[in-house]
Amino acid sequence: MKFESSTSNIANGYKLNSFTDEEIGDDHIYTGIETPMTIDAFKMSDDDKKIKIAELFAEIMEVMGLDLSDDSLRGTPNRVAKMYIDEIFSGLNPKNKPKVALFDNKYKYDQMLVEKNITFYSNCEHHFVPIIGKAHIAYVSSGSVIGLSKLNRIVQYYAKRPQVQERLTNQIALELKQILNTEDIAVIIDAKHLCVSSRGIKDDTSATVTSYYGGVFNTAHKVAELQSYLND
Ligand SMILES: [Zn+2]
Repeated sequence: MKFESSTSNIANGYKLNSFTDEEIGDDHIYTGIETPMTIDAFKMSDDDKKIKIAELFAEIMEVMGLDLSDDSLRGTPNRVAKMYIDEIFSGLNPKNKPKVALFDNKYKYDQMLVEKNITFYSNCEHHFVPIIGKAHIAYVSSGSVIGLSKLNRIVQYYAKRPQVQERLTNQIALELKQILNTEDIAVIIDAKHLCVSSRGIKDDTSATVTSYYGGVFNTAHKVAELQSYLND
């Protein structure tokens, strides 16, 4: 994993392609395939991160005027901290990456394999609200095959990060290309972004579709075959 320098774009006057954060607003900008992380991202232990996040989240709640001595709110900072590190953002830490065993393609199956409708929950990195969607994955074996549940686990690992959908699509595709040692990978993601439906423009009907087509999936007949399976 490549780590970016720890410059913060919260700093005053930061501009991306000459647009300020204010001007970018709700336009979701995708800056690269790597999740932007600091070089010291894993110096702190998970337990220490949870303590720190709980303190900071309590402060956010207090700033908003919430009474943390109320029995219903008392445990929220700790719950949020645990949920961030152990669950919804656990995919930031490479130690949580699924271990993938490959098997020989004993059946000599040389057509595409499609794993469709893999449900995932992610979070938009611009608003920290949910992205809910389905991923469809296809590959043609170059000699090895992967356990079907591992395709699902790879999707979940990359989904459990603050994300943008384009990066999620490409990160899954790149991972599969490396593991399966083939360019013949397709990833299609169809998702709803709550930052679009529950706030901002409040469009509850739109969905976002992104795709990655590598190798044989760049041919019209393979794409048509894949689409026919997905439409069933
Ligand atoms: Zn968003």
